[in-house]
Formats: sequence, C-alpha cells, structure tokens
Amino acid sequence: MAVDDWICGFEEVRSGLTTDVYLERMMEALRRDGKADTHVWAEFSGDLPDGYEWGVFAGLNEVMGLLNGRRVDVWALPEGSVFRGEDVNGIEEPVMVISGPYSEFALLETAILGILSYNCGVATAAARVKVAAEGAPVFAFGIRRMHPALAAVSDRAAYIGGVDGFSGVAAGRRLGITPVGTMPHSFILIYGRQEDAWSAFDKYAPPDVPRTLLCDTLSDEKDEVIRAAKLLGARLSAVRLDTPKSRRGDFEHIVREVRWELDRLGFKKVRIMVSGGLDEKSIRGLKKAGADMFGVGTSIAAARVIDFSMDLCEVGGKPVSKRGRFSGVKNVYRCADCLTDVVVGWGDSVEKCPKCGGIMKPAMIKVMESGRPLVNEDIQKIRTRSMQQTLKLGLNLDSNR
Ligand SMILES: [Zn+2]
Repeated sequence: MAVDDWICGFEEVRSGLTTDVYLERMMEALRRDGKADTHVWAEFSGDLPDGYEWGVFAGLNEVMGLLNGRRVDVWALPEGSVFRGEDVNGIEEPVMVISGPYSEFALLETAILGILSYNCGVATAAARVKVAAEGAPVFAFGIRRMHPALAAVSDRAAYIGGVDGFSGVAAGRRLGITPVGTMPHSFILIYGRQEDAWSAFDKYAPPDVPRTLLCDTLSDEKDEVIRAAKLLGARLSAVRLDTPKSRRGDFEHIVREVRWELDRLGFKKVRIMVSGGLDEKSIRGLKKAGADMFGVGTSIAAARVIDFSMDLCEVGGKPVSKRGRFSGVKNVYRCADCLTDVVVGWGDSVEKCPKCGGIMKPAMIKVMESGRPLVNEDIQKIRTRSMQQTLKLGLNLDSNR
C-alpha cells in the first residue's frame, strides 16, 4: 500500500480492516476457544446531544452494504425516521438490531458505529436547520469542511435531513440529482470587476441555472446588489451575501438594507441568499430580516456526531446486558399520530399511545434476511419521511444548553 493512501475504501471497510484492534484480539481468543460463532443479538442505540429531542436515522444503506452476504438478520428503523436516545419511560431506544453468529459482524462494529454516528449527526443537523428555516430553501455547502472521502456520504445524509440541494458533484452523480451552486469569490477576483464576472457567468452558465450573483466581494453589499440588479434586470434570480465575519457587524441589518433597496428599485422578486457560518439559531433571525435562502456549510457537514453504541442483548439464547443497560432483545413501538415511542421486549406489544391514545406500531422492520437486503428505498421517499416527522415534532431551540 502506498504511504500516501489514507482513504479507506469500501473493500477495506467491508473486510474489517478499519476495526479497532481489541476486537481482532477478542475474535482470535473466541476462535481458539470455539466461541466465535456464538449466536448473539446486538442492538444499536444513539446518545443525543444535550437539548436535542430527536435525531434523524441515516446511514442504513451503507450498513446494509457492509452486511450484504453475511449470515445475519437485521431489523432497523426505516431510513429517515426520527429516533430518540430514550423512550417515554427512559429506556434506551434501539434503532437497529443484528442477529446471527457473532463472527459474522464482530469486526464490523467499529465501521457500523462510525457510519451511523456520522450519518445521523449530519442528517440531524440538516433537519434542525431545515425546520428552523420554516419552509425556506436550505442548501448544503459544507463538503469542504470534511475529508473528501466523506463528500458523497455527507451530502446524502444532509439531503435526507431535508436540505433542498447540495453542492457536491460526488453525491449528485450517485443520486442522480443536479448539485446547486452560485460562484466563488475567486471568480470575481480574476475578472477584477464585478460586472465582468457576473456577465461571464450569465453568458456561460447553462440556461436552467438560476442567475444568482455573489454581491459582497469588493464593495458594500447594498452597492453590489444594486449594480447586479441593473446589470441583469429581470433575469436576476437572487443575490448571495457571503459577507466575511470581520465586515458583518449586524448581518441581519445588512439583509434588511439589501431587501429595502431591491424593493425600492422594483426587484421584489429577486431573492436574498445568505451563507457563511450559519446554523439553526442564526437562520431564524436572518429569515425575519428578509433572507429567503440559506447556504449552510460547517454546521451540517461537520455536525456533532451522535454517539452510537452497540450492545449485546442476547447471547446463546439468554438475555444479557452490561451494567446500565437493559437485557434482552427489544423493539420500539411508535405512535402513528404523535410519534411517541415505547420500548418493549421482543414479541411484546403496546396498543395505545400513553400520550394521545393513538395506535402504536412496531417502528423497526426487518431489513435484511440471511444477509440479503429486503428494502431498497428511493432517496426521495427517505427524505420525505424525515421531513414529515421532523416538521411534526418541531424544534425547541430554547431547550438547548
Ligand atoms: Zn400518540
């Protein structure tokens, strides 16, 4: 292997070579003592950051890719479902359960946890931003804040969380979705004059690409916006403000001024897109000030991961648990109306929602049988599920610590 090859590829991950070494040592001992193939049930649950009332489950596609062909059965929440760290009674809530000989997936524990922790972190952050934007378009512009090996993963997870588009061509190619983007500051700097760069963009960008011009490179936002409007007239779709931190002062006030000037000049239909260091908290104020669209980078692509853990809950047919965990295989029953969760023992059920009296249904479904995938959902279906559920639950930003 070349010493400059630091990107672990799919085959390397799938064959267990990205494991923690203690799992290798454990498996060696289990093999020698004839215990490696012990039949186990393992459950995966996530620990949400303080103040988060829900997370968005993403990354199941990758997990199934790793387990494909192995002698395991898998149950999981459908991708895009919301999940909690604990149910309404304070019991840890599994998002996925694997059943089979331990040797079939023991060396994949590290990889599976990493996949879920990152995917769910990004999808959850994207969903929080999208809910905070109250219907306004949000675009994921953050793959430059992550290792390029994660570019497609990051944009896919953000899309599941509910962003309206993403900038990465790698995810675009895999999902068949046209990526979204405007223009970089370098473009303006190379032409040296805003009008020259804007005209070149207008001349060469495909006709179906909205004419969104970057208006903050060399001069005051208000000045550049007026010049952009005069240059493109009715063809101007939006202006993008990516004002550097040192010049921001009151960014909301800059947005208010720009909106005022555009309206005054008759450009009421021209939308204002803002980007740069945004998160679910700053978006609310900017939207009130008149921003129509949001480009969000770091807070989505480099979102806080959600800590997932894998625990054996049954070994050789007997319920087990480490201290602080609940033994035995579990399922989650979810209210179809208010999405309240109740964790029950495998085979048990709950009929009525303890909160609203609605009908409870098992939330985890069988997604793999003997290493064969049973589901292959379209990305739009997954995204719609996530958006419906997160919009229903809403966002309580005041509870954030
Ligand atoms: Zn309910």
